Amino acid sequence: MKIDEKYDFVICGGGATGLLLSNSLISDSFFDNKKVLVIEKEIKIENDRTFSFWDNQKNILDKIVFKSWGKAEFKDMEFSSSFSLKPYKYKMVRSDKFYSFMKRKIEKASNFTYLNANVENIIKESGINYIETDKGNFQCSIAFSSIYNPEEFEFKKYPLIKQHFLGWTIETHEDFFDEDKIRFMDFSIDQHQEIRFMYVLPFSKKSALFEYTFFGGEVMKNSDYENEIKKYLDREGIKKYKIAEIEKGVIPMTCYPFFNANTDSFIRIGTSGGWTKPSTGYTIKNSIEKIDMILKFIKEDKPLSKLRFKNRFWYYDVLFLDVLVDSKGKGSRVFSDLFRNNDPLLLFKFLGEKTNIFEEIRIFVSVNIMTFVKSLIKRVKSVYLKDFLRN
Ligand SMILES: Cc1cc2nc3c(=O)[nH]c(=O)nc-3n(C[C@H](O)[C@H](O)[C@H](O)COP(=O)(O)OP(=O)(O)OC[C@H]3O[C@@H](n4cnc5c(N)ncnc54)[C@H](O)[C@@H]3O)c2cc1C
Repeated sequence: MKIDEKYDFVICGGGATGLLLSNSLISDSFFDNKKVLVIEKEIKIENDRTFSFWDNQKNILDKIVFKSWGKAEFKDMEFSSSFSLKPYKYKMVRSDKFYSFMKRKIEKASNFTYLNANVENIIKESGINYIETDKGNFQCSIAFSSIYNPEEFEFKKYPLIKQHFLGWTIETHEDFFDEDKIRFMDFSIDQHQEIRFMYVLPFSKKSALFEYTFFGGEVMKNSDYENEIKKYLDREGIKKYKIAEIEKGVIPMTCYPFFNANTDSFIRIGTSGGWTKPSTGYTIKNSIEKIDMILKFIKEDKPLSKLRFKNRFWYYDVLFLDVLVDSKGKGSRVFSDLFRNNDPLLLFKFLGEKTNIFEEIRIFVSVNIMTFVKSLIKRVKSVYLKDFLRN
């Protein structure tokens, strides 16, 4: 194979995590002498997604946050709770801003090259990677890939739940919204024997995103999501509005151990690295933290294959997804129990994987523990016992 250029690092996929990783490398002078190539197949300029996350610290995205909120609410058919998010803020970044901000930084970095090309193959050979693209072949010591092809993986052992959604950003004539309060989850809608909720982000008194979200089941026709949004707006008394923007997406929720493919010279990042939190679908905050871990390892000259992305929260997530799969339409009950019986801030801390074991026990006893015990027994029987008998 003819090699067109050699690099220290090649980042395959210049989406959210490829660009966050690029930014971290550019911001750390330790990497100034490393030659880096970013390969992205699409022209990323549009607002094809919005990235939201909660945070109690400053991070690089603060510079481009579109809106942040200090309050939130949770609702179901029987229960509703409004709370302050302090010390957290819920923040939202538009991807068009994100892509242009990150790409400007890459353009300015003299050790970086950005290439619009399709990665066709990544060949890993004795610690060196060969990246084949439609615009040339490249060699590097470390390759990072955020390219996600679900067909490559056998999800059987770790179920894959699709989180799918469609959202309308609407504009009204009159003031309707409390612009400092998000509706994190509203389960007070028809569950159709599944797990469905509305997610609402108000941008001003007259504008808000209404996202109809679904855990599990198959992706539906746009009109099915849209009819549900219309019903919800009607119920809220919002009759006259203009649709300003539409967001649609599918996020994989799974504990599949994508990170098992990592070696000292090849690291999966982002959704394709298992950085999407299986129980929620949130990825961005997780990614910032994982990138910090990777950079620390490289700087300390530690073998990247020793990076552990699996912690006790991964095991909780396995069980949680099992419960959702087994819930037969009653999954919203688990979320309701969590929000009804806990301080919501403790839940945000838990979902951000920052709780200690005592706080976690407090959370576990607040839900219908038998549901979890049943799923645990099923998992032990189906996976571990089978493995044991096979060996
Ligand atoms: C609509 C939507 C909304 C979301 N909202 C949130 C949110 O609010 N908060 C949150 O935390 N997470 C959110 N997520 C989940 C997650 O943060 C995003 O999916 C995020 O983009 C994942 O980052 P990534 O780098 O893994 O993948 P991507 O951002 O998809 O990046 C992968 C990149 O690889 C490129 N690529 C693929 N194949 C090739 C190839 N062969 N050659 C070259 N390039 C290739 C793609 O074009 C893409 O740009 C959302 C996801 C979606 C879809």
